Amino acid sequence: MSSLVERLQKMFPSGAGLHEPRFEGREWEYVKECLDTGWVSSVGKYVDRFERDLETYTGAKRAIAVANGTAALQVCLQLVGVKRGDEVLMPALTFVATANAAAYLGAIPHFVDCDEKTLGVDPLFLEKHLSQIVEKRGEDSFNRQTGRRIRALIVMHTFGHPVDLDPLNALMTRYGIELVEDAAESLGSFYKGKHTGRIGRVSALSFNGNKIVTSGGGGAILTDDETIGNHAKHLTTTAKVPHAWEYVHDETGYNFRLPNLNAALGCAQLESLPTFLAKKRKLAERYAEALNGLKGTRFFVEPSHGKSNYWLNAVLLDQPNVSERNRLLKACHEAKILARPAWQLMSELPMYRDCPKMDLSCSQSLAARIINLPSSSFL
Ligand SMILES: *Cc1c(COP(=O)(O)O)cnc(C)c1O
Repeated sequence: MSSLVERLQKMFPSGAGLHEPRFEGREWEYVKECLDTGWVSSVGKYVDRFERDLETYTGAKRAIAVANGTAALQVCLQLVGVKRGDEVLMPALTFVATANAAAYLGAIPHFVDCDEKTLGVDPLFLEKHLSQIVEKRGEDSFNRQTGRRIRALIVMHTFGHPVDLDPLNALMTRYGIELVEDAAESLGSFYKGKHTGRIGRVSALSFNGNKIVTSGGGGAILTDDETIGNHAKHLTTTAKVPHAWEYVHDETGYNFRLPNLNAALGCAQLESLPTFLAKKRKLAERYAEALNGLKGTRFFVEPSHGKSNYWLNAVLLDQPNVSERNRLLKACHEAKILARPAWQLMSELPMYRDCPKMDLSCSQSLAARIINLPSSSFL
C-alpha cells in the first residue's frame, strides 16, 4: 500500500502550493477602470457594488466592506458591546486573528474546545463548561473564577466547514452571551441552507490573498440588523458626521475602509466564486478518492448539517503523533507539496498562555493530527 506522500505525488507530480489565487475573470478590467478614472481610494462605485454583491450572495441585510478580516472581527466585537475587561469565548484551534481581535479591545480571550465532527466549537463541551463556571447576574453571565463578564462567543468555521450553529445559538441565548461568527474561511459555506455568518448577530469575512476569494486584502462585516449595520459603516469610516464640508466626528472611529481598488478586484473575484466552489468540491472528491483506505488517516469531509466551501482540505491522522505528522510534512515539502499543520493552539501562544480556558483535549489532539493539503481552485 502506498504512503500519503506517494499518493499526493501521483496527484501533483511537479508539486503544489498550499493555496494560490487565480485571476481569470474581469479583474484587469475593473482594476484598470479605477486607475483610469482616478477612483483608487476610500470612495468609489466598487466599494458600494462589492457590499451589495456580498449582500446578494450571502443573503445578509447589510455587508460593510473593511480593510481586512481582523479589523472586521474587532469591530464585530465592539458592535455587540465587548468592553475592556470582558471575556470573549473562542476556540483554541483558530488563526491568531480571532484572539487578537478581542485583545485589541482590551478584552480577554477564553478558550474553548472543539468538536471532532466540525473542527469548530463543540456545543456540548461548552454547555458543560458554562454550567460549571457561569454565575448569572441579571441578564449577564460572569465567570465565577475570574469575576469578569463573558460578553461574546466567537465561533469559527474551520477550513470552511460550518460549525453546528443552532445549539450554540440556543446556548448563547440562554446565557445572554452574544454570538459572533468568524466566517473568514467560509465564504460559500452554508449551514442548513443558510450562508455562514447569518446566525450570529454579526460576522466577519476575509478577502486576504489566501482565502477563497481575494481583494488583495480586505474583509467585510455581515449583519441582518440595520442599526448595527449603520453603526458598523460609521465606526469603520472614521465616525464622520455626514456634511458637505464640515469635519465633525462623534466617536473614536477607525480608518478601516476598503479602498476602491481592492473592492474592484473583490467584485471580479466574487463573479468567479461559483466556479471556485465547484472546482474546490471536485478537488475534495479527488482527495477523498486518492486517500481512500490509507491506513492511519481519514480525509476530512463536510459535516452533514451543511455545505463546506472546502477552502482548505485536511487529512487527519488517527493518532495524535507530532513526530509522525512532522515526518509526513517534511516528506511532502521534499516533494514540493506544500502541506502544513494546523495552527499552534491559541492557548499555547506566549501572549495568550495565561488566558482562561476549559479542558482542551480535543483541540490538542486535532492540532497534532491535522495536515492541510494543497487546495488552490485550479489544481
Ligand atoms: C484569515 C483569517 C482571519 C483574518 O483575516 P485577515 O483578512 O487576514 O485579517 C481571521 N480569522 C480566521 C480564522 C482567518 O482564517
